[in-house]
Amino acid sequence: MTRTTVFIHPRIRTLENEEPLDGAIVVRDGRIALLGSLDEARAVAGDGAEEVRLEGEALLPAFHDAHIHSGSMAAVRLGPDLAGATSYTEVLERLRIFEKENPGDGWIMGGRWDSNAWLDGAQPHRSDLDAIFGVRPVMLSTVDGHADWANSAALTRAGIEATTPDPGGGRIVKDATGEPTGLLLESASGSVDRVAREELVFSTEELLRDAQQHLLSLGIAHITDIDGEDVRSGYLALRARGDLRIRVHKMTRAGEMPAALADGRRFGDGDDWFTTGPVKIFADGALGPHTAHFHDDFVGERGNRGIEVTAQGEIVELVRSAVDAGLGAAVHAIGDRANTLVLEAFETVADDARVRGVPLRIEHAQHIRPSDLDRFSELGVVASMQPTHCTSDFPLSVQLLGSRPTAHYPWRSLLDRGVCVAFGSDAPVEPADPFLGIHAAVTRQRVDGEPHGGREPDERITLTEALRAYTLAPAQAAGLAEHTGRLEAGMFADFITVDQDPYEVTEADLWRIRTEATVVGGEVVFRR
Ligand SMILES: [Zn+2]
Repeated sequence: MTRTTVFIHPRIRTLENEEPLDGAIVVRDGRIALLGSLDEARAVAGDGAEEVRLEGEALLPAFHDAHIHSGSMAAVRLGPDLAGATSYTEVLERLRIFEKENPGDGWIMGGRWDSNAWLDGAQPHRSDLDAIFGVRPVMLSTVDGHADWANSAALTRAGIEATTPDPGGGRIVKDATGEPTGLLLESASGSVDRVAREELVFSTEELLRDAQQHLLSLGIAHITDIDGEDVRSGYLALRARGDLRIRVHKMTRAGEMPAALADGRRFGDGDDWFTTGPVKIFADGALGPHTAHFHDDFVGERGNRGIEVTAQGEIVELVRSAVDAGLGAAVHAIGDRANTLVLEAFETVADDARVRGVPLRIEHAQHIRPSDLDRFSELGVVASMQPTHCTSDFPLSVQLLGSRPTAHYPWRSLLDRGVCVAFGSDAPVEPADPFLGIHAAVTRQRVDGEPHGGREPDERITLTEALRAYTLAPAQAAGLAEHTGRLEAGMFADFITVDQDPYEVTEADLWRIRTEATVVGGEVVFRR
């Protein structure tokens, strides 16, 4: 049976122009049937249509987060949060409190710790976790996700001991006697992570139920998810039960490409709720651990230009097979050299990708040589960027990089070249709230107003551009622009209302805006 609903709002913001529309949206079978005046809407909707008036100062298209680790985000939300701690002592105190409030024997994950911010200069050690949690397995990630701190129980379950060799692309940190300290760098966390996810007290489905509710409360109706196969299966299980409320575009990790090939996955496969995305590949590391890959040395570290996490020859092969398989590729590249190398790899497949209609994306695209900016548009590469990284990395990135002939977080430069710039949060590295990203994109300042005038202020963009980068651009990157990303007849009825009209607040206050209601497929799935 066809169900028709009329959503009435005095300030509908379509992002097509700066004038709000006082009118209504008619929704039929989950899609927008008409957007127009209330009279037009009533005429189209006919008698008996339900009329809904949502709270909130403005109605906007719902957000699409183009780069999120939603399963990890939920695990972090349910585990201890160590972000912002200024000493190791404070970290241990927070963990003691967490243990008291959350007794049990299941795995503890989460963390978001950052030893760069600890004034006591301590390094985490498994013995300190053992003292608090005993035999309960614990694995806590750094805020950037590139290192983990495990206790003895977690190491034992993953079979990591003194004699375990370092895996390729990772390091098991060991003390002078050769015993693991509990610190696992880059890929060394993999084995613990796999066991933990298999044994988590929270099932993946429980995690994802929490994740989707949290995301809907932030106005996010669609995600491009970077997590692993467990999260893919979890969302598919929720959908099979009829419990999926958020739309998911799911990437496949490079290590899991064989599984994707075996089930014949193709980019864009799926339905209105779940679609297959490209293959996620790592080219370099991150700024925090000094593993992002640059053309020139990190300031004051002669010879250190970061790490080529995947060798260039292998990137070229992976990208080639991902395109040939009809999946497309999304490569993590932070440093300018990593970006150059990925663009070179993309050059070898760009024509085929275009013919097959599969995307080539660079995830983060943070530091880019000016000569490489044009190559994004020439090759049709999507820049998947996270505006809050630009401001959270300040002043660290300035200290690490100094002045060099490189553009930093250059969304203005990329947009001016016609590049598809899709915004996301990279949660749990940063909070998922899109208004934090929009504020960072428009001001290039942190929420405390630093730095004054914004860093590289020439790279600021307008509010409309920032909103589109969080709505239309991720849809385009996902090959879904005919279905979503705009408020228009024929599109999914995915929209939100917010407590303040973003066009009416000062730029410095954009991050304070809160979502009042979220509508996905014409259903009100969140109300504050
Ligand atoms: Zn990420």
